Amino acid sequence: MFGNLFGKKKKKPKAQCSICKTLLEHEEGFALSTAEVVVSKEYWDNKMVEPETMAYTTNHFKNKDENATKMRGIIFEKTAEKDQTWLTCETCIKQFDVDMDQASGYASEWWANSGQVEMPKAGKATDNMEPSEYEDMRNYAMMDAGASKIRL
Ligand SMILES: [Zn+2]
Repeated sequence: MFGNLFGKKKKKPKAQCSICKTLLEHEEGFALSTAEVVVSKEYWDNKMVEPETMAYTTNHFKNKDENATKMRGIIFEKTAEKDQTWLTCETCIKQFDVDMDQASGYASEWWANSGQVEMPKAGKATDNMEPSEYEDMRNYAMMDAGASKIRL
């Protein structure tokens, strides 16, 4: 009632990009499963040079610090265990090799159902990946990710 009084529409809900935290307007974005996120090498190349992870990456590559290497593995494992739908912005979706129309369709469902989406490979990545694929990606994230983005 008040809204109408002042000639305003009801405020539409907003969300943040799960990756870069950019604000997404109602109906915007692309929805991904955790399994779709963790198979992207580009995602890990970016993730491992963020301010929170950069120290591990530098120590891993420059100082061959075993604890830093281990932490990079743990970051992968923690991410793979996330039972969530990822909602990304137009920029971040480019890191993933997915059908953008489909991901956009799932995002519409996400908005319509307050974050609930029926997606293939939903849930933890560990439940939706072959063990060998999981190991390959874990190895990449732990040993190689971000190498091209830091000065050695
Ligand atoms: Zn983003």
